[in-house]
Amino acid sequence: MAKLSIKDLQLKGKRVFMRVDFNVPLDDAGHVTDDTRIRETLPTIEYALRQGARLILASHLGRPKGKFNAAMSLKPVAERLRILLDQQLDSACNVGFATDCIGVQAEEMANNLEAGQTLLLENLRFHPEEERNDPEFAKKLASLAELYVNDAFGSAHRAHASTEGITHFIPKAAAGLLMEKELQYLGKALEDPHHPFVAIIGGAKVSDKIEVIRNLLNKVDAILIGGAMAYTFLKSQGAQIGKSLVEDDRLDLAKQLLAEAKQKKVRFLLPVDHVLADKMDARAEAKVISTSEPVPADQMGLDIGPATVEAFASEIKNARTIVWNGPMGVFEMAPFAQGTMKIAQAVAGNCDAISIVGGGDSVAAVHAAGVADKITHISTGGGASLEFLEGKKLPGVEALTNK
Ligand code: AMP
Repeated sequence: MAKLSIKDLQLKGKRVFMRVDFNVPLDDAGHVTDDTRIRETLPTIEYALRQGARLILASHLGRPKGKFNAAMSLKPVAERLRILLDQQLDSACNVGFATDCIGVQAEEMANNLEAGQTLLLENLRFHPEEERNDPEFAKKLASLAELYVNDAFGSAHRAHASTEGITHFIPKAAAGLLMEKELQYLGKALEDPHHPFVAIIGGAKVSDKIEVIRNLLNKVDAILIGGAMAYTFLKSQGAQIGKSLVEDDRLDLAKQLLAEAKQKKVRFLLPVDHVLADKMDARAEAKVISTSEPVPADQMGLDIGPATVEAFASEIKNARTIVWNGPMGVFEMAPFAQGTMKIAQAVAGNCDAISIVGGGDSVAAVHAAGVADKITHISTGGGASLEFLEGKKLPGVEALTNK
């Protein structure tokens, strides 16, 4: 069901409560060390301000567990936002800051906003009611505004007061531009993908991504498996994997998924070679062997090898839709980073495909490989994009008003 977009709302002169994702890293002195998340939502903020909205921004930051914690205050974010808006809008901007997200001060500041002015509320999670999705708290948040916009895709898989509860007390709830873009790309990939559709799944554990694999088996032409999770599949096929990371309690499940893929005629590619070392250490001596050979008992697999890269790259080259979540190896260490980097380059090299990369590590990998600008869509929500790929409905999306 299509959801209302911020572009469908009459914003002029209206108080707009916008849920954003300002969960940015701060250093000990309280400075924002990476403002990517603020910049990603800037187009939605700028749009609202240019339309004459009276803008109330709300976010969480960190895990303060329902209590005030000065180290997780959003105050430094207000200052960074002001600087960014100054550059963007080419005029001096004031970003007000309310020291509590509900209460008299927040109400007064919201009411006193003029068209085109911005107020940032203090960390929503200083109140335990936020994560509990408490209706009274949601009602108080809602009382600050006349319209609601959610641009925090990364928090949309949680039914919290600011992502779900609040929508019951405000007549119109719309997606922001960033949220809309996420839904458009991820939605299209799952509902109406161009074929061949290739999914690349990596990372540490099969158990984290079972539902993604299961759901994608109904949609894709090929699944390429890398990372530690490949060892659970390889072992389920009788391979000797030495001391590679494995989930012994998921061997039956891995077998089932392989059988399901065969029955659905989905090409399910496991590594054909890999990089071994005796420990997960950047100084360890690494060597490549075929996965058809037994891994010595004192060795572990830490990256896919060059033959696997070639096999995966040839699937990627022919794809028209590519979804990638999870690294192919321990990409944080140079000797085991090649597989992930080469896959990043292969995905970026296919200009004919819609490519979608999600999950913190794979996103970091496309940046490290210097190819982020060649990816069609980099998802901003790790957990949320995984749940979306699992076929789950996200409460923060469901709560938005239908068109
Ligand atoms: P995930 O959060 O499930 O996407 O897993 C990401 C983590 O998996 C990264 O920190 C990688 O270092 C790790 N990883 C990937 N491949 C391997 C491997 N073969 N052995 C151990 N850890 C791995």
